[in-house]
Amino acid sequence: MRRKYIISAILLGLIGLGCNHANQPKKGNAVAAIQSVAVKDNVAIKDNVAVKQTANTTAQILAKPEVPVLCYHRISDGPKSDYRISPATFTAHMKILADSGYHSISPAQLYDYLVYNKALPAKPVVISFDDSREEHAGIAAPVMEKYGFRGVFFIMTITYNKKNYMTTDQIVKLAKAGHTIGLHSWDHTMVIKYKDAADWQKEVADPKKKLEGIVGMPVEYWAYPNGVYDHKGAAELSKYVKLSFSLFSKRDAIEPLQSVRRIIVPECTPQGMLKSMHRAFPKKNA
Ligand SMILES: [Zn+2]
Repeated sequence: MRRKYIISAILLGLIGLGCNHANQPKKGNAVAAIQSVAVKDNVAIKDNVAVKQTANTTAQILAKPEVPVLCYHRISDGPKSDYRISPATFTAHMKILADSGYHSISPAQLYDYLVYNKALPAKPVVISFDDSREEHAGIAAPVMEKYGFRGVFFIMTITYNKKNYMTTDQIVKLAKAGHTIGLHSWDHTMVIKYKDAADWQKEVADPKKKLEGIVGMPVEYWAYPNGVYDHKGAAELSKYVKLSFSLFSKRDAIEPLQSVRRIIVPECTPQGMLKSMHRAFPKKNA
């Protein structure tokens, strides 16, 4: 009974948590990006011939045009906020992306583009969702699939099968439909609060393993709770995942793969969404 109360209290806390904005990035303070990225050269098979792929350096990764990454939270009718948009608005956003010639790409494609210079489709965009809400499977995925899009769903694993959150069956169904399942911690504790190995085990290692067991494939992508990270946390995450996604924070000069920028999409017109996306990701392929 006591345990049930504690879990309920945590979930109630989560309802109010959402993904609060990280502060807008501060200019400057960039460290010279001369370090090598902790990624390995790769061997790909092309025309039945093994081709060695040399991994980009940190400087090369930072120099590549960023791909726009959108971040959605709740999709339901209710009071407007940065963290809730209506189903009609979400559908309109997906429609304008399709009508404008955008192609959704997976985090795996983004990684291969950043590290190995793999080609991307024209007008690439990553469409991501935080907090494991039920409507991500019930509303967002079917709308995206209608337009030929696939998304990435970041799961905080304390929510498995809880009211208003996705069931494990829904998560498996998303993975089978070609969407990417990523991790968003166990209980939404921010990375900057992980004090020791036990915290990393509880918030990253254990939930990653559990989620991999559920979807039957590696879970290689992470979204920072509240979008907040520091260099130490980014460096530690590189041991667990290929890419980590923040919100508005400036990319880490040493760990750009562990500080991929996203923008939160609030309730706004489709044209307003495109404008925000172009403003946040002004490079040539945005
Ligand atoms: Zn979140």
